[in-house]
Amino acid sequence: MSQLDLDKLFAKIEELKPKFIERLTDAVAIKSVSGDESLRPEVVKMSDFLVKELTTLGFKDIVQKPLGTQPPPVVNPDIQLPPVVLARSGSDPSKKTVLIYGHYDVQPASIEDGWNTDPFVLTHDKVKDILYGRGSTDDKGPVMGWLNVVEAHNELGLELPVNLVCCFEGMEESGSLGLDDLIAKEASDYFKGVDTVCISDNYWLGTKKPVLTYGLRGVHYYEIAIKGPGADLHSGVFGGMIGEPMTDLIKIMSSLVDSQGKILIKGIADMVAPLTPEEDKLYDTIDFSIDELNAATGSKTSLHDNKKDALKHRWRYPSLSLHGVEGAFSGVGAKTVIPAKVIGKFSIRTVPNIEPAKLDKIVIDHCNEVFKSLNSVNSIDAHLLHDGNYWVSDPYNDSFASAAKATKHVWGVEPDYTREGGSIPITLTFENELKTGVLLLPMGRGDDGAHSINEKLDMSNYINGCKTLGAYLHYYSKV
Ligand SMILES: [Zn+2]
Repeated sequence: MSQLDLDKLFAKIEELKPKFIERLTDAVAIKSVSGDESLRPEVVKMSDFLVKELTTLGFKDIVQKPLGTQPPPVVNPDIQLPPVVLARSGSDPSKKTVLIYGHYDVQPASIEDGWNTDPFVLTHDKVKDILYGRGSTDDKGPVMGWLNVVEAHNELGLELPVNLVCCFEGMEESGSLGLDDLIAKEASDYFKGVDTVCISDNYWLGTKKPVLTYGLRGVHYYEIAIKGPGADLHSGVFGGMIGEPMTDLIKIMSSLVDSQGKILIKGIADMVAPLTPEEDKLYDTIDFSIDELNAATGSKTSLHDNKKDALKHRWRYPSLSLHGVEGAFSGVGAKTVIPAKVIGKFSIRTVPNIEPAKLDKIVIDHCNEVFKSLNSVNSIDAHLLHDGNYWVSDPYNDSFASAAKATKHVWGVEPDYTREGGSIPITLTFENELKTGVLLLPMGRGDDGAHSINEKLDMSNYINGCKTLGAYLHYYSKV
């Protein structure tokens, strides 16, 4: 598509704006909260809504893939997982095929939580030009964005420049149950021939500059269980006579990390990929400041005095957080209990090139060795609770280069290249099962309040977001 054609596409997107707002309004009105079993029919209704829209827009092979019964813990043991909606537009072998992923379920929301407007009524604040509503940015806005792009093409009588394969799930906010298996199963079937995957389910880092996201940290979550007496005891009666589990646990937990955030377990830092000058440069231009960090935390507790170090520690270095102690006294007042069994919880956010199995061994061995050095009469069981691996892509590959061009074209600036400190496990599943690259191309801003009250999407992000998604497909079709 020539420059002229993209201009036509952008003009059509502007022209269809009222229609696009209506589409998002209809989507937000469906209370597709996946974490609330009583609202499961609404989640299914949302998948039906997508099927209706996709049908109207001319998509083919539209299927609602059942994922079976939801595994425990559940209230209703027969409750069915919402289906994954699959659809395709075009199957021209001379074109590239892009798989787009999004989710149609949302986080819970109720006006009593402190919303200024009904969370399930998309409300347009015309002064600020902002759309408020649950799912506006996470992730109904971006999902409707893809549909909008197709509608604009249809209205112009233009073919899409690529074949599009949609994969929209309804369980993302509740652990994407069943999706890994479906992707593995469809990799050689429905998803056969996919050249690249584009996920629009994340956000700009800040509020001013668009970003492309090329990395996510992984997480390994551990427990240290220390067992002592057979039951909780009174310190006045037994204090001084027995070994106390809490004393051991605090010693071990204090050996994991220091107050500057430095991980004290030997061998982890050695596995971290060295910082290249090229990577270091990516941090120079990023729209972020320590003031923004302080605003986000409501404090002045930053461990770093400059944005580059702060971001590197969020994105490309591991961190260890102590989360809690199960079984310990945690109420107010002065209860004189000796807890019989305590379980310390901590996790490590992982980065390249930490090897998962090696990390687990180093961590568990460390806990056991520290415990041994205490000469305690108690017993220890340190183990991994769950893990998910990190993901990092080449930010200069064809898909990222196309997204960068699209962003520049629409927003007039080069995007920042960001990572995220948290995980989107499905990213890695797509990459591993489809053997293709994955691009995270966000629509909303860092202050959209995705899981919080008054979730919003700025109108400019919605409309320019549609343009960016459309332009991305065009630039990618030509690489
Ligand atoms: Zn999301």
